[in-house]
Amino acid sequence: MGELLEKLTGGLLDFEDRARAWLGAGERLPGARSAVARSRAVGWLTESGRLESVLVREDLVGLVEFALSWRTVLERMVGDEPPAWTPARCSCGERRFHWDVKAGFYVCAACATHVSEREASARVEQEVAR
Ligand SMILES: [Zn+2]
Repeated sequence: MGELLEKLTGGLLDFEDRARAWLGAGERLPGARSAVARSRAVGWLTESGRLESVLVREDLVGLVEFALSWRTVLERMVGDEPPAWTPARCSCGERRFHWDVKAGFYVCAACATHVSEREASARVEQEVAR
C-alpha cells in the first residue's frame, strides 16, 4: 500500500509540475512525497478554474487517463469490480461486452474492442435517454 501511494504521489506531482510549467504558475513548494505533498497537489490542481485550463492542454489530457487508471487500481484493491456484463452496445452492433478483470476494460466478445467502464455506462445512459 505504501509503495502504491508513493507511485500515485509521484505521478500526481509530475502532473502538477507540467501543469505549472504550462500555466506559468511557478515552481511548487519543494517537499517530501508525503501525504502533505499529495493533498497540496490535488488542492492546487482542483483550485477554481485551474483544472479546466489544464485539461484543454492536449498533452495533459493524460491526467484524465492517469486519474481513471488510478481509480481502477484503487477499486481493485478494495475488490470493487464492475458488473461482469454490461448492456452497452459495441460499435460493431453486438451487446456482448464482458468485464476483463486483468485488463480493467469491458471487452467485446465479437470484435474484441476494449471499452472503459465509464464509456460503457455512458453508452447505456445514452441509449436510455433516447
Ligand atoms: Zn464489438
